[in-house]
Amino acid sequence: FLQIRGIRKEYGKLVAVQNVDLDIRRGEFMTFLGPSGSGKSTTLYILAGFESPSSGDILLNGQSLLSTPSHLRQIGMVFQRYTLFPHLTVGENIAFPLKVRRRSKAEIDAKVREMLRLVRLEGFEDRKPAQMSGGQQQRVALARALAYDPPVLLMDEPLSALDKKLREEIQHEIRRIHQETEVTILYVTHDQEEALRMSDRIAVFSKGVIDQVGTGSQLYAEPATRFVAEFIGDSD
Ligand code: ATP
Ligand code: MG
Repeated sequence: FLQIRGIRKEYGKLVAVQNVDLDIRRGEFMTFLGPSGSGKSTTLYILAGFESPSSGDILLNGQSLLSTPSHLRQIGMVFQRYTLFPHLTVGENIAFPLKVRRRSKAEIDAKVREMLRLVRLEGFEDRKPAQMSGGQQQRVALARALAYDPPVLLMDEPLSALDKKLREEIQHEIRRIHQETEVTILYVTHDQEEALRMSDRIAVFSKGVIDQVGTGSQLYAEPATRFVAEFIGDSD
């Protein structure tokens, strides 16, 4: 479904990621787990089209994505400080990607209602982002990312600015949405507990390479490297 083939990214002399090969299944929840600087965001930005790789390719349903500009890729995104448009209401924020795609007013209205229900923010349609909590804003960002039914959703530490309770609540929400929709999720975190709780499979990043890919229990039972063993075993 989504194939990452031999991705390498250099910034001058620094090799940020190399030899990144991954096959992601349709509907899968895949997490990139690893310490700061290990190349998780770089890989995600290449998928999003914010960065181009020094070499390698990305295929979605067999077609290379690299020649498709970021805004035309069928990929939704929620990042840590995913700023909503502050001058637009919640409803207008969610409608935005649909307006860009020239959907009809009736379709947009119906979709905004459906998305507000999905993230449990019915009744918030006319608020401005500044009138909502951080967690509510992240849910609006999630609703906006999902509004045009992208087959793939990228999330780069979407919860790291939130406190523990809110983080757990939205983790739960994201898992529910993953189950209710068919969306394939690539999720970045440096929190092993979060990765183990949320993911179908985890790709463990270390110093720009993927050390191992597997389910949480595979990583626990048979860590491929000492790094994986220590990183997965370490619970903050
Ligand atoms: P974190 O958990 O801190 O977000 P990360 O795993 O997302 O870390 P990346 O942001 O992918 O790590 O960075 C990988 C490496 O590439 C780091 O050494 C980083 O300093 C470097 N890097 C990332 N972006 C750039 C850039 N625009 N220019 C130069 N170096 C960069
Ligand atoms: Mg990062």
